[in-house]
Amino acid sequence: MLTPLPTIRTQTLDNKLLQDTRIRLQVLRLDEIHQVISGNKIFKLYHYLENVVNNTVITFGGAYSNHLVATSFACKQQGINAIGVVRGETPAILSHSLQQCIQCGMKLHFISREQYADKESDAFTTMLKTLYGDCSIIPEGGYGMKGAAGAAAIMNYIDEDVTHICCAAGTATTAAGLLLNAKPGQQVIAFPVLKGMTDMEHRIHFLTEGKFNPEQLHIEYDYHMGGYAKKTTGLIQFMNDLNDEHDLPTDFVYTGKMMFGVMELINSNFFPVNSKICCVHTGGLQGNLSLPKNTLTF
Ligand SMILES: *Cc1c(COP(=O)(O)O)cnc(C)c1O
Repeated sequence: MLTPLPTIRTQTLDNKLLQDTRIRLQVLRLDEIHQVISGNKIFKLYHYLENVVNNTVITFGGAYSNHLVATSFACKQQGINAIGVVRGETPAILSHSLQQCIQCGMKLHFISREQYADKESDAFTTMLKTLYGDCSIIPEGGYGMKGAAGAAAIMNYIDEDVTHICCAAGTATTAAGLLLNAKPGQQVIAFPVLKGMTDMEHRIHFLTEGKFNPEQLHIEYDYHMGGYAKKTTGLIQFMNDLNDEHDLPTDFVYTGKMMFGVMELINSNFFPVNSKICCVHTGGLQGNLSLPKNTLTF
């Protein structure tokens, strides 16, 4: 993939609220690792791209999927053939994300939303393998134990004295990975970006095989802002302000919502005085290209 990884920066934020609450707030800038292969994806993909069957992988995603983009790039780097199964019929105009996938040499295979819902069935897998030959299949979003084991390495970049580690959650694989390597006194706070994601805890238990203390996990369900890839004017304003104030760009699907939640929790005294928070910037900035021009000031 990208070996060795470039230096990963930890940014410490400063403002009056943080001074008043005596909270140290850091952001682990995984977004700066690379422009295309964003943030957490490079970690999650690591083990999926070891010992690939027939040097071919097939994976799944929507038209704006950071996971598809990252997979296409990582496969190109490693000389692996990649096929992306995309939710929805072939569009007239390809999204920026899908254009990027094609540039990286990924073959795209469009299927209807109904078929997509059935993508994990044996029948569909057999069909794919007949079409593209034997291969390794990476679950949508890199969900799975291999993904969590890869994401666990993110903890190596987080200072030992951190008390709370915050991350946005889609499949929950990253949150599970962080928990796998969190120390007893550290709490992982996950911010699901999907509405009504009731199986979050179940997923994390499955991915970690329950290897954490219940008090090490906290899930904040109230920051999806209407659901996956939905946005509010408040969120966009917050993202612009955050970038103006701290030179910290975020994406509107994941990291913007997480940072919004973290700031609100700090404001409402959720965190004890002297907490040392590290927010994992999981990348995803390429997703902002789907917004109308001038929505964001960065
Ligand atoms: C994919 C993605 C996530 C979600 O990670 P999960 O491991 O699926 O929970 C979070 N942030 C960004 C920017 C992403 O692209």
